[in-house]
Parts: sequence; structure tokens; C-alpha cells
Amino acid sequence: MDLTSNRIKQLSYSQTFVMSNKARELKAQGINVVSLTLGEPDFNIPEFVRESAVKAINDGVKSYTPVPGYIELRQSISKKFKRDNNLDYKPEQIIISNGGKQSIINVLLSIVNDGDEVIVPAPYWVSYYEMVKLAGGTNIVVETSIDTDFKITPEQLEKAITPKTKALLFSSPCNPSGSVYSKDELHALARILAKHPNIIIISDEIYEYINYVGKHESIAQFPEVFEQTATINGVSKSYAMTGWRIGYMGAPLWLTKACDKIQGQMTSGANCIAQMAAITAVDADPKVINYMIEAFQSRRDLMFGLLSEIEGIKINKPAGAFYFFPDISAFFGKTIQGYKIKNSDDFAMMLLEKAHVATVGGVSFGDPNCIRLSYAASEEDLREAVKRIKKALE
Ligand code: GLU
Repeated sequence: MDLTSNRIKQLSYSQTFVMSNKARELKAQGINVVSLTLGEPDFNIPEFVRESAVKAINDGVKSYTPVPGYIELRQSISKKFKRDNNLDYKPEQIIISNGGKQSIINVLLSIVNDGDEVIVPAPYWVSYYEMVKLAGGTNIVVETSIDTDFKITPEQLEKAITPKTKALLFSSPCNPSGSVYSKDELHALARILAKHPNIIIISDEIYEYINYVGKHESIAQFPEVFEQTATINGVSKSYAMTGWRIGYMGAPLWLTKACDKIQGQMTSGANCIAQMAAITAVDADPKVINYMIEAFQSRRDLMFGLLSEIEGIKINKPAGAFYFFPDISAFFGKTIQGYKIKNSDDFAMMLLEKAHVATVGGVSFGDPNCIRLSYAASEEDLREAVKRIKKALE
């Protein structure tokens, strides 16, 4: 029997988790799989953050928190937005959620009516597309390619806007391409969007600190779009706290209130211990995580060198996040290790089954020419993975 609703029938599984689960299953069977699937820092959470969580438990912190989060955490985030991004969000404009993921779906559920359009530049993070569907919206995918460093131009954006456009949803640094929009590039997009004050910009900045080009730029810094922007962030990637599920948003008050309404009915807010730890993390000087960023940067350089040596694989040099998104379309139409390669999902499956390297195919990221490799893994694993990929392709 299958009584699932149409809403769920038309929803896809998250490919990031599908592929990481496949890798886990193979490992459980004793197969030595190198998994470059999930974007999950392999560092421990900094000790001072862990200690604050232990203290909170021992102090008896255990109850429901206010639905939008502890006021102390919202105050800390308000200061962080000012300190790092020069953004003026008052604590009441900030809401804490169960990961950046929930912050995004909250916004979409708050603003999208059936049939409204959401512009999603491709490649996009797998869940954007599905969340827009869940909210009853229509995805308007704007394509890019490796040749334009996977970024959209103001002209492309302008062309995609219609009277039905409700939002633009994007990330910078980008998951999966690692591309980072410069201040000028963001400003050019902002100028177009300012002409349409009814379009909400959902700016996912979860990889803010994992940025190798210097200062992070937020689109909300441009006064002409501040009132129409939801800035999403969280502690998952920056403080290696993925499983603690703390994301947050700064936005116009009406939007924060709408998200509060949703959370009050759906989750009652985020975990209290994780929120206490997040206060410690957000209050800290971001320099305390520099060792992680440096490690990611040297892994990026290592991977760039190694992947560049493989014939047929085309790569850009990601400026942020911890993913490579190589174009492997040169292999389409070929049979490799007995696999007929039609698109990047076939390629990823071939790598998993034959080379025991787990990656995520690009189809669910909106780009069937590419695959995503997370380099949030040890140098040893990265070297081994590329060695195996090279061998499988020979
Ligand atoms: N955001 C991470 C990724 O893209 C974690 C998995 C997920 O939430 O999709 O790998």
C-alpha cells in the first residue's frame, strides 16, 4: 500500500544523502569506499564550543526555547551580522532554525503561493529545487556553465524575471560549484532586483568563512535591496557542527514573523543545548577557525593539481566552499568499465561501483555535465580517490 500524497510523490530524495548512504552501505559490506559525497567538515568542533554545550547540559538547560530561538543567541547573531557583514539586523529580525535548510524552506513556505516562480541559478544545491516544489512554486532554472565560472549575469537574471517571480534563491560561496560572486557582481544583480521590490532574495551564505578570495560579500549590504533580502547562515559548516542543526536567518521583520509562525506549529524551535553552544561559536573571533580554512584551501590546491592531470575532466578553481564540480561531459557516449555513460549520474554510479569512490552526480544539482566531489576529507583520502578515478578512466 502506498498512501503518500501527490506532494510527496513528486518530491525527489536528496541525492547528497542517497549517495552518502550508498557509500555507507558498501563500507558496511567491508568494501573500502572513499566517500566524497557529503559536505561535512572532518574536523572536530572547537573545544571551547563543545565545552559550552557540556556546561549547558550540566547546568540543567533542557526546556523548550522561545520559538525563534534564545534572545541571547539572536543578540549574538545580530552583533555577528554587524561585525562580519556590516548588516543591521535587530535581534527580533533574526530567527534560529534546525539548520540553514529549515531557514530556507521557512522562507519559501512564507512567501510562495501556488504557481509563483522562483529563480534558481544552476548549478544549485539539490534541496533548493525540491523545496520550491514543496512550497508549491515553479522553479525557473537559469543555466550557467564552467566557462562562466558557473555564475549568472545581470542580463540572464533580468530575462528570467516575470510578473510571477517571487524570489531568487542562490548561494555564494556556491554549493556545488565553489564559485564566489564578487562585490561588483552582487551589486549588478542587486541593481536589477531593486527594480522589483516584490522579489525576495534568498541569499544562502552558509559557506561564508570558507572563502579563499578574502572578505565575504553579502548581497544585503546594498541598501537598495536590504528590505527584500533574507540572509541565511548557520554554524554547521564554519564550526563543523553539521549534526547540531543550527541555522539562522536575518530578514525584514514581517518575514521573520512568518517563519516564527511556521516553526511554532512545526518544530517549536531548535535544540536548546546546540543553541547555547552556538552563542559561544558566534561570539568568537572568526579567526579561531582559520586552521580549518587553511586546511581546506591546501586540499583545494591539492585536488586542483591532481584533477587537472586527468584527461577529459574539465575543472574551474573554486574560490570557496569545499567542492569541486568538474565537467565530465567528454566521457558521454563512451562505455567505461562496462557502464554506458549518458550523463553525470551514470558517471558517478560507475565511479562508485567500479572505483569505489562515492561522489554525487550533477543531474540533481541542475547540471548533467558535472559531478560534485567534496574535499572535506583527509588528504590521504583525496589522493586515493583521484588515483582510483584516474585508473578507472584509463
Ligand atoms: N549541505 C551538505 C551537502 O550539500 C550536506 C547534505 C545536505 O544537506 O544536502 O553535502
